[in-house]
Amino acid sequence: VLLLLCPSHQVHTHMHMHTRTKLPHPPPEGEYGPGAAGRLNVIAMYDFTAKEDTDLTLRQGEEYVILHKQDQLWWRAQDKHGWYCKNVTRTEAEQLLRQEDKEGCFVVRESSHQGVYTVSLYTKITDGDVRHYQIKVSDSGQFYLAEKHTFDSIADVIRYHEHNAAGLVTRLRYAVGPMGRCVPATAGFSFEKWEINPSDLTFMKELGAGQFGVVRLGKWRAQHKVAIKTIKEGAMLEEDFIEEAKVMMKLCHPKLVQLYGVCLQQRPLLIVAEFMENGCLLNFLRQRGRTLKEAWLLSMCQDVCEGMEYLEAHQFLHRDLAARNCLVNEHNVVKVSDFGLTRYVLDNQYTSSSGAKFPVKWSPPEVLHFSKYSSKSDVWSFGVVMWEIYSEGRTPFENRSNLEVVNDITRGVRLYRPHRASQPLYAIMYRCWHERPEGRPKFSELLEEIQKLAENPD
Ligand code: ADP
Repeated sequence: VLLLLCPSHQVHTHMHMHTRTKLPHPPPEGEYGPGAAGRLNVIAMYDFTAKEDTDLTLRQGEEYVILHKQDQLWWRAQDKHGWYCKNVTRTEAEQLLRQEDKEGCFVVRESSHQGVYTVSLYTKITDGDVRHYQIKVSDSGQFYLAEKHTFDSIADVIRYHEHNAAGLVTRLRYAVGPMGRCVPATAGFSFEKWEINPSDLTFMKELGAGQFGVVRLGKWRAQHKVAIKTIKEGAMLEEDFIEEAKVMMKLCHPKLVQLYGVCLQQRPLLIVAEFMENGCLLNFLRQRGRTLKEAWLLSMCQDVCEGMEYLEAHQFLHRDLAARNCLVNEHNVVKVSDFGLTRYVLDNQYTSSSGAKFPVKWSPPEVLHFSKYSSKSDVWSFGVVMWEIYSEGRTPFENRSNLEVVNDITRGVRLYRPHRASQPLYAIMYRCWHERPEGRPKFSELLEEIQKLAENPD
């Protein structure tokens, strides 16, 4: 527990900060303060040593800027070198900035050459592009981005270019933190228990409707946005689900839609989950797919693959992975949702492989013929999700009936290469559709391949 003292009043908070660590050797000198009006400056009352990569080490007496009060437990803060991203590669920087999608947003990172720093800067002027500028050192040991404007420290270079483009494509407007796009879901609030008191919930607008009923935006304790699923009477095997919910609550990963808890005492049953601002991935692709660059599409695949790798490592099967069961948050991070839920659906049309609602087009032969589920059947579905992403939300096997698809798949027919997918990318999804489960890669392998492709796009 950390108590922070701010100039005007005391803020009592348990702080678990997810921001960047401090600069390594040798830290550029000079004070850096974002200086923006309205920001809350606080002083740490106690030392705090970062326990994870995403924590910020606090030194008693030092000043920090609060960027965002997530809730009473989790705040985002930055130290005086708020623009510095440790251990961020060129590709990651690009991904970070594209996701942020704000004119002039930037990071300063250590470049692939040791001891050299690079400014990665995003501009919309040239159609959403990232530029990388190396911070150079003059013969006299001065730092600069533009030869005419040299300074004693990197901090001074940054401060200067916050006000002057001076040769850069745009000025440095907005420092982006490395965790901007993947704040862990549990950051919202950590429930001690998995049962939620319904009087803590308020209901807001309707978000959509699914197999189990209506999904609404709501607030927990009047503060934290959540998605609330109302379970229609007779739609779910409730008792079995309630048992399983205890397990599902413990699944916790930045690329999984977090289950926060359930309201059990009344009917309809309520499921409370992480709210995802940009809704379901399928609609997102249909509406915005054309505007998304290839690198974005790939990072969406990577998001889903990371979530699935976590499920695979925890021997948890999704059983219904598809773009319609992935959601997109306000930072355009894609997260996997509805994992394992099909087991509790009471609807034969959905659960029987010959039913009209069965996800035939996402299912491998062993599921279609023998209902044999495994992480490798999830891998097959993941290949189809990649296909959905690269076809901007098209329906797989668009003009074929479920029965025709079963026959095609059994004969070895596979989805064609979507127009946005490169040959190497298509090769990855194609491997997911190996006839036998053993022939398909694991999610951990897929993730490596996707990362490799992200580092070396053709
Ligand atoms: P189903 O139970 O059939 O899978 P969904 O969970 O997909 O139903 O919910 C239906 C719709 O509600 C989704 O398409 C999406 O638009 C919206 N929705 C569901 N969960 C969330 C969430 N956590 N955040 C934001 N919107 C959501």
